This record gives sequence, C-alpha cells and structure tokens, in this order.
Amino acid sequence: MGYPFVEIQLDRVAANTRLIVDMCRARSIEVVGVTKGVCADVAIAQAMLDGGVAMLGDARVQNLRRLREAGVNVPLMLLRIPMPSEADEVVRVANCSLVSEFSTLSQLNQAAGKAGVAHDVILMVDMGDLREGVMPQKILPLVQRCMTLQGIRLQGLGANFACYGGLIPTPEILSNLVALNRQIRDAFAVTLPVVSGGSSANLGLLMAGALPAGITQLRIGEGILLGRESLRRNAIPGAYQNALNLCAEVVEVQEKPSVPLGEIAQDAFGQTPVFVDRGTRKRAIAAIGRQDVELTGLTPACPGIDILGGSSDHLILDVSDAATEIVVGSKVCFYMQYGALVHAMISPYVSRVYTGRALLHPAKSDTKGS
Ligand SMILES: *Cc1c(COP(=O)(O)O)cnc(C)c1O
Repeated sequence: MGYPFVEIQLDRVAANTRLIVDMCRARSIEVVGVTKGVCADVAIAQAMLDGGVAMLGDARVQNLRRLREAGVNVPLMLLRIPMPSEADEVVRVANCSLVSEFSTLSQLNQAAGKAGVAHDVILMVDMGDLREGVMPQKILPLVQRCMTLQGIRLQGLGANFACYGGLIPTPEILSNLVALNRQIRDAFAVTLPVVSGGSSANLGLLMAGALPAGITQLRIGEGILLGRESLRRNAIPGAYQNALNLCAEVVEVQEKPSVPLGEIAQDAFGQTPVFVDRGTRKRAIAAIGRQDVELTGLTPACPGIDILGGSSDHLILDVSDAATEIVVGSKVCFYMQYGALVHAMISPYVSRVYTGRALLHPAKSDTKGS
C-alpha cells in the first residue's frame, strides 16, 4: 500500500456508532449515519450500519449513488437541500431529502410521479443558524402546500445548528422546533413522525440529558468518525478519537537552523512566514502536503513531534524531541480534524488502509447467502 494513506479502523468506527446509537435509543432518538466526511466510503458506511444506524445520509447525490451501487440497502437521506435540476436523480437514489423551497418540492413531486415512487421529505426550519430552512413563521403555509403533493410523503421538520452562524442548539430552541410540530398537528390534524434536531453539534445536549422530548432523530457524522461533539470538539467519553489516522513516509531527516538564512519574502501560498530561533534542530520532511490534506488540521500521533509548516507536497516536522526515533523511511501518523479528514478522503493522492474488519462485499452475495 502506497503512502500517504488514511488508516481506517473499522471496528472503532462501529464501536463509536454503537455508543452514540445506544445513547440516542435510550431517548427514543434514531441516528442517521452521515458519510459526507469520508466521501461515502462504503466500508465505513458498512461499519456505521454494523454499529446500528437506521439510515445513512450524505450531502451529495453522487455519494448516495455510490452507496446504493455497492449494495447498501437501508434508506438513504440527501442532506443538502436538492438542486431543482437533480430532482429526477434525487428521487431515484435517495429515499428522503431535506427541503426548504416549495418549487423544489414540486419538482421532486413531478420526478417521483415519473419514477413511480413516493419520496419522503423533511422540511427544514431555520432556527437561527441562517443556513437552510424557512423562518418558523413560514412553516405552516409550506406544510399546507406540501400536503397537496401526491408523490411527496411529508415526514416532519428538521433544523441545523452551528453550520453557518455557529448557533448553539439549546433546549429552548429545540423545544420551539418540537412546538412547531405540535402547531402543525393542531392546524392540520396530522402527526408528523420526525423531528430531526441536528448534528454532532447536539451531542453535548444529548450526553447531558438535556435534549427535549419530541426530538426523534439526529444526523451524526463527526461524532461517529472522530468521537467528538462538534460545538467545542469535546471528546465523547468512551468513544475513539483515532478511528481514522493519516500516515505519511519520511523522506529527509537533517539537522538545520530554525530560521531561514537570508531575507524572507512570501512563501508558495502568498503568506509571509514568521520564525522563532530555537537554534539547530533535527527536522524531518514527510511526503505529504496541501494537495493531500489540510495541514492545519493535523496533530502528530507520536509525542514530541511538532509540525513546523508545509507546502503543496511537503510537511516539515521538528523531530528533535520525538518519542521514537525518526529516520528516512519512518512512518509518521497524525490525528485529523474534520476538515483535514474530508480533504484527505477526497484527495486522489491519498489511499486507504482498512483494519479491524474484512472489506464489504457487494450485497448481492450477502443477501443470497451460501
Ligand atoms: C453534515 C450534516 C450533518 C452532520 O454533521 P456532523 O457535524 O458531521 O454530525 C447533519 N445534517 C446536515 C444537514 C448536514 O449537512
């Protein structure tokens, strides 16, 4: 297997999923496992299913299609509100989508009619984060219009937090979302089964037992993949923060001064770097760079290694105090933040190494048995 690679411990992904699913189940909440952080990697999606998620969700139709074609046969949710132009594809690939515009609902309705399927939707309400959703006072009219569409099965309401505005989900705001669902019941005599209360940003409330009753679903990516809630990146007790690590190979180790020799201008990316003189240090170059990953989102797994900086194809490390000796050819591994993970998983230069579980075989052979 060529370097660099993301080392994926599937049993840890499954264990993180199980932990969160169990916490949610205790409060009658179902979990949608979100795969967009790993480009809908099929083996990781399968690990989420092993961990007990009811449904998988992704922001991109292409990613959902990849899951479907690999034989995943649970319901699939499209997380990004659909482009009107992709309506036909959406109803074919996804079972459910998050929607905020009536014109899009109507496109999905037509597409569902053409395809001879029913399409589930969750109407998004903007509770103040100011990304997607109608303002709360607009939800009743939208529900009313949505109920006229034969091909659309209205499942409920959804909201998002801490995505654009960084809005913190609070018990009060979430109770308001639940209250909107009650208003719909009173106005139209329908009980919508789903109140989709948010993402890994809600896990802090979940763990504190402070999610209001009436929230029935959470859509969780980062919590499963990196074992953290996403408001303050606190670790989830009992979850693995290192289920996915990035590994690179060292191509140079040399003693060098810690300040460039001569005058300093802009670096390769237009920034003017700043240096602290720490004398002569033992430096290593790992063969990985900004074409592979977001370098600011990396933390060396080996104690004593510092990241000094990097360019498109090189990562420069201070290994003077490394806990294990670093030589040319050494493998160095890093924990990744969410942004770094996404970037590594979409880079064509980064391969994937799976441990902890056999790779998924296409479901055809699974379902036929032996
Ligand atoms: C990405 C996304 C999620 C999952 O977010 P995490 O922070 O990874 O849990 C949930 N809902 C929507 C609409 C999303 O786009």
